[in-house]
Amino acid sequence: MEYLNELNPVQKEAVENYTGPSLVIAGAGSGKTRVLTYRIAHLLNQGVRPYSVLALTFTNKAAREMKDRIANVVGQEQAQSLWMGTFHSIFSRILRYEAEHLGFDSNFTIYDTQDSRNLYRAIIKEMQLDDKVYKPNEVQNRISSAKNNLVTSAAYANNAKAQKADAEARKPRISEIYSRYSQRCKQANAMDFDDLLLQTNILFRDFPEILAKYQDKFKYVLVDEYQDTNYAQYLIVKKLAEQHKNVCVVGDDAQSIYSFRGAKIENILNFRNDYPNYQLYKLEQNYRSTQNIVNAANSIIHKNKGQIQKESFSDNEEGDKIKIVKALTDHEEGYLITNDIFETRMRSHCAYQDFAILYRTNAQSRIFEESLRKLNLPYKIYGGLSFYQRKEIKDLLAYCRMAVNPHDEEAIKRVINYPKRGIGATTIAKLQDAASQNVLSMWDIICGLHERPYGLNAGTISKIAKFTNLIKGFQAQLATETAFDLANNIANSTGIIKELYNDRSPEGVSRHENIQELLNGIQEFTQNALEEGRELHLPNFLEDVALLTDQDNEKDEDRDKVTLMTIHSAKGLEFPYLYIVGLEEELFPSQMATSTQQELEEERRLFYVALTRAEKKATLSFAKSRYKWGNMSYPRPSRFIREIDERFVEYTYEQEPEFSGNGRDNYQSTTEFEVPNSPSRFQQKRSFSAKPKLNQPVSRIKQSSNQNVDPNFTPSDPDSIQPGMVV
Ligand code: ATP
Ligand code: MG
Repeated sequence: MEYLNELNPVQKEAVENYTGPSLVIAGAGSGKTRVLTYRIAHLLNQGVRPYSVLALTFTNKAAREMKDRIANVVGQEQAQSLWMGTFHSIFSRILRYEAEHLGFDSNFTIYDTQDSRNLYRAIIKEMQLDDKVYKPNEVQNRISSAKNNLVTSAAYANNAKAQKADAEARKPRISEIYSRYSQRCKQANAMDFDDLLLQTNILFRDFPEILAKYQDKFKYVLVDEYQDTNYAQYLIVKKLAEQHKNVCVVGDDAQSIYSFRGAKIENILNFRNDYPNYQLYKLEQNYRSTQNIVNAANSIIHKNKGQIQKESFSDNEEGDKIKIVKALTDHEEGYLITNDIFETRMRSHCAYQDFAILYRTNAQSRIFEESLRKLNLPYKIYGGLSFYQRKEIKDLLAYCRMAVNPHDEEAIKRVINYPKRGIGATTIAKLQDAASQNVLSMWDIICGLHERPYGLNAGTISKIAKFTNLIKGFQAQLATETAFDLANNIANSTGIIKELYNDRSPEGVSRHENIQELLNGIQEFTQNALEEGRELHLPNFLEDVALLTDQDNEKDEDRDKVTLMTIHSAKGLEFPYLYIVGLEEELFPSQMATSTQQELEEERRLFYVALTRAEKKATLSFAKSRYKWGNMSYPRPSRFIREIDERFVEYTYEQEPEFSGNGRDNYQSTTEFEVPNSPSRFQQKRSFSAKPKLNQPVSRIKQSSNQNVDPNFTPSDPDSIQPGMVV
């Protein structure tokens, strides 16, 4: 049990006492994820069967890394049999086993955000509502939030509060949209991401014997990043752990950054009510970052009220101060940062993968991409329009989805006339109408056209018949062909490959390459599945793709590259050299998030998450001018820069009055330098701190003891899904 020596005394205690309810609550970088990982390894070492352990992580990547680590201790076979993954992936697996109880088929499709938005758009149109009032993304968010609070469409219709809020927002028909949407998903045998959690809760509520089966199965339940669970997730964990009460959750209230998706910090605070005899572990030593970084991060989060009191210090080297970089323009910010990466890498002999650039919104990546390309620095970018969202990829996958679940309406609509086979928009509208009227799927309608033609002429019906026969042909091969063979066959026999090959425009060539790339990916999946003895058919591949998260697209050749990502997707990760860019008012904190104290505190937590990703050195930057919506804007530097205790920062320029009161007289020498490849020469000042160095970390900051919950939070009865819940 050598692994126990890799833990400090409190961590070790949390690993060894693996029965009963435990809450590990601690600051960033203190080894929470390590505790969870080692606790699982320890469980297995003590003879607990791997299939009775349920471990929930925030990304698939995190689950994979944990599994690898555990495999090192207990061996591959045991690690592979753990039930470990994201909430969505674990519960979609359970839902496939139990689908029939809920009126779904086990081969249901998982609609991604875009599919789901398309369906909302179609419904809004059918109901002849104004899509400027009923904006599809707003409707989607509203209903998603209802689902995360376990308000079903029927419950929503009876929820006086929701109705009143919708009426006040002049959108009184949201409830009707919600109910149509739910019905259409059911006809299409499809669930969206929120449904995966909602339906699991419905399953556990309505089928006590099924709940009992899983309660019995999962003897140990563990959850990472618990502060970002929403109500639907909280309730699943609570119910599953009810019997054995061996539940271990780890989290940091100061890192709760998903309240816009319904995450509830209160879940941590409720833990003590749900399990009065719980064990609390507080980890205080940060192993990730230098003292300066930990101290700076503490001084920031200290500004938030209502954090759970905890301490955090680092015994690592003191390290460099947090460097603040000012750029005249957004482009110059790109040059300065990428150039710094270039130089630091030379100087410190480190790898590209040691660097990350974090930003508040995806749109900020473009300028950094440009300058990285100019300097020839390899980079990988997470988020944004991912590979799987591209049109040609979605088209081919739509055929694949239809082979698995022909009722998938969003897939049918994509490909019924692609490549073109003469089935026009009016015909498609008629078919969809017929489906709605008869409460059937579009597939049911098109397969029954010879009996009920819905006014379509013989020519059209025969074109549609060709399409249905094509799909039926694929279905027949599902069980026998591997994912790759079938996908390859689909790409060829539908004519997609030919169509793209014939388009010799640069876009056409790149689409063709993307399809090849997708097929390569499917081949790789098939090969890996074969080697690891997993299922290697098309449904299995589609399941993996549907559940990809932002971080999961990494390929082997991507390893040694500079990382570009939003702060939200950097959660749980660490990088030796970190750049947080665009630190400007209205960008970060975001313009959308400064009207209430709560919103601002969430932005501040986001900044805390960002800063605590850094191991050795953190650099913050802002630009004095930036193009926004096509106009030049002149933002002020972010308040967050000012909020860091001045002892831990170093300004690389002379501060302006707007920045007053924060170490302004620290400057001693000025140097002028030119950044290679930079379009402009500009002046910078080098700073030296006049203050004596701190021997003692000032980090043991007592945080506000106001640890109570948000006064707006109304605790709900977690044993039932209630129509009365506030949405
Ligand atoms: P976050 O809040 O950001 O998710 P965390 O609390 O989960 O952070 P980990 O990622 O588990 O922290 O640990 C941070 C780093 O410190 C990791 O590189 C981990 O390997 C290392 N670490 C944790 N505990 C120890 C220890 N006892 N000895 C040495 N290194 C440790
Ligand atoms: Mg962690």
